Amino acid sequence: MCLTEPEAGSDVGALKTKAVPQPDGSYRITGQKCFITNGDQDITKQIVYPVLARIEGDPPGTKGISLFLVPKYLVHEDGTLGERNDVFCTGIEKKMGAHGSATCSMSFGEDDRCTGYLLGQRGRGMNIMFQMLNETRLEVGIMALGGSSAAYLHAVDYARTRQQGSHVSRMFDPAAPKVPIIEHPDVLRMLLWMKSWVEGQRMLSYYLSQQIDLQNLLEGDEAREAKALVDFLIPVVKAGNSDMAWRITSEAIQVHGGYGYCSEYPVEQIAVDCKALCIVEGTNGIQSLDLVMRKILMNPEQYNYCVVKERIRKTIDSAAGIVHEAHLRSLAEAIDLMDAAVDFMEQLMESGDFRVLLVNVDPLRRAILYLVIAWMQLWCLKIAKPKLAALTGGATGADLESVLEGSPEAGFYHGKVCASEFWLATEFPKYFGKIEAILQGGRMDLRQAETVFPAFS
Ligand SMILES: Cc1cc2nc3c(=O)[nH]c(=O)nc-3n(C[C@H](O)[C@H](O)[C@H](O)COP(=O)(O)OP(=O)(O)OC[C@H]3O[C@@H](n4cnc5c(N)ncnc54)[C@H](O)[C@@H]3O)c2cc1C
Repeated sequence: MCLTEPEAGSDVGALKTKAVPQPDGSYRITGQKCFITNGDQDITKQIVYPVLARIEGDPPGTKGISLFLVPKYLVHEDGTLGERNDVFCTGIEKKMGAHGSATCSMSFGEDDRCTGYLLGQRGRGMNIMFQMLNETRLEVGIMALGGSSAAYLHAVDYARTRQQGSHVSRMFDPAAPKVPIIEHPDVLRMLLWMKSWVEGQRMLSYYLSQQIDLQNLLEGDEAREAKALVDFLIPVVKAGNSDMAWRITSEAIQVHGGYGYCSEYPVEQIAVDCKALCIVEGTNGIQSLDLVMRKILMNPEQYNYCVVKERIRKTIDSAAGIVHEAHLRSLAEAIDLMDAAVDFMEQLMESGDFRVLLVNVDPLRRAILYLVIAWMQLWCLKIAKPKLAALTGGATGADLESVLEGSPEAGFYHGKVCASEFWLATEFPKYFGKIEAILQGGRMDLRQAETVFPAFS
């Protein structure tokens, strides 16, 4: 997909690529694109580029943008390939990671003979592109989750084999035997932190994917609800999974110690590969704007947000008597606090205080991630706790250990319960501080902060 130009990244509407109508109904395309993933390759002969461009005379901004198909080779009437079109790769970026894909600068119409064909209606390029963008944003989220999960699993393997230090019970005994680092409480904490985030994000990503199917399969109000969930969760999953992938892969490096910083171990590569996912398909800052402005504040009657809240409340009700009362209470409180934060943002919008509003958009998106992950963890406990109890007969201590050894299924549910309990007890409390920071610190007048940077115009 050819959207980005040197002077038009997040601000796609600023693009300069031009399309001039020709007598045969095609268009002459001229312009430069950059950062184009797999912009050229010799695996297939033909490549067809979807290219965003403005037809000469159309209005500035995103409303004047149309979408064109530009083939690498022109196609004859009978479908055979003809002359080389005037589209060329002019360079390959030297990137920090993701070396498996060539990120190309592309030139269209250097010799003024690049032919393109309008796809869809004139001026509807952004709307058409957005249909693909929704899917690619989910794919980016899933890729990030894959990176996080792989880094976490490598860290577990390494921690099982690397011998350093002695067991906590003999930590002051110089003659104590060395133990695998997985036995150190701090390493165990890092692994549990990674596991609980990876599994929380996996649940959320699968739930979102299911809603994408449901919005297509259902009808009427049910389809509308599924669509509301999809619209709301796409930016949460894209930005949340990629932000966390950078943190999770960093923690996986930490578990490996110095070896994690060396390229002979895979976690370093996974980390640099994952960083790109915070930037592509709309930076995570742009995802925050999409979520908070378009999907919440400007959505009529905040319908999307109301559907999400309703679903969370249903999960809380259905978990009563199964999940610890304290978890149910905190999730219910968390919804009330989110309402307060959304009200605060709405007031800022109504009063036209856009500086303060926009500085809080990304923090709010990050807090929303915690809210929906808490929902998933609670839901997980609701299912996993009774399953575990049925498999272990409520055994504890040494009895539990012997059941877990003989039953991988019990081990699976035990892992789920431990990870979800860990997340709700140690990560979820941070949500309340995040909201507090928005409601209190979020009132900071940025006009003063602007003077910190003398070059500010
Ligand atoms: C590996 C890789 C592959 C890519 N593949 C493709 C591809 O196949 N096709 C394609 O078209 N593009 C591709 N891109 C480009 C990518 O989509 C852009 O890099 C991205 O949209 C950001 O644009 P930019 O780099 O110009 O950054 P900028 O837009 O300059 O953004 C810089 C920073 O400013 C922030 N910012 C910018 N505007 C605003 C605003 N209005 N409000 C708040 N914050 C803002 C951003 O969030 C970001 O933090 C790829 C990029 C990479 C790194």
